[in-house]
Amino acid sequence: MPAGLGMEINVDYLAVCLLDLAGTVRHRAHLTTDQRGRTPAQTWSGLSALAKAASKAAAAEGLAIVGATVALPGLVSGHSAGQEVKIAPNLGWHETPVPARIDGIAVTAGNEANLAAFGELHATGLSSFVYVSGEIGIGAGIVVNGDLFRGTQGWAGELGHVTVDPAGPQCTCGSQGCLEQYAGEDAIRSACGPGLDLELRARNADPATLKALEHAGTALGVALSSAVNLLDLPVVVLGSHLAPLVPWLKAPIERELKQRVITSRWSSPEVVPSALGADAAVIGAARTVTEAIIANPAAHLSSVSR
Ligand SMILES: [Zn+2]
Repeated sequence: MPAGLGMEINVDYLAVCLLDLAGTVRHRAHLTTDQRGRTPAQTWSGLSALAKAASKAAAAEGLAIVGATVALPGLVSGHSAGQEVKIAPNLGWHETPVPARIDGIAVTAGNEANLAAFGELHATGLSSFVYVSGEIGIGAGIVVNGDLFRGTQGWAGELGHVTVDPAGPQCTCGSQGCLEQYAGEDAIRSACGPGLDLELRARNADPATLKALEHAGTALGVALSSAVNLLDLPVVVLGSHLAPLVPWLKAPIERELKQRVITSRWSSPEVVPSALGADAAVIGAARTVTEAIIANPAAHLSSVSR
């Protein structure tokens, strides 16, 4: 049976996931490893090792990997061979080529928040929403009436670089006061002081953590209000590191949405956690491969018979 390979490069981990045509995850692997300070070649090589293990698992299960999509926290240009990561600020990548193949498998790359939104679209009954990916950076995937809205160059959804305060702190993108500087993982952690597990600290009502989450939620609400005013979306899905923090982020986000979205008196957007959690991007990436086969099985059959 054909299967799709999803891969993910993020600032502090690499991941792979093997999805069959029924949408079942047949293999997954996650490697916690900080990519900052590593060269792109070292990162691709780490991902290649995970792809090799996934190929072995596929063979053992009688699955044939027909393609792979890599989710990245950056802007990717091009559609097939010859793709380039224009910028991935938190990886330190600028105009970095995407290899055409990894471990012999044809690869395309896409933005991690867009791919996570694609995964959520297929995993939930939601047809219109903004998915917010909260890692070291903040990204968004916009789904309108069942379709991922990609923008003219596939670069839509840079919610993390929407201005919250024009006089705010310097951002890695070159601008100032971007949402990421208030609600990115590093920003929340540095606001609440040393300690690892944010969710646990919030459950224990640690005052500095609660204050940091209130501050981050307010900034998210301000930025999301602009997105909802522009795009008329009924649901905000909080993903990745933000998903377990929904109990503390929901109230400040909804407060800002109520205050700032002009249509909120009739229909205020709901804030929900991601259904797929931390795996949304890697599952969404694999899903692009399987959905392409389902959408056009004849093309797939002719490619394998050649
Ligand atoms: Zn920025």
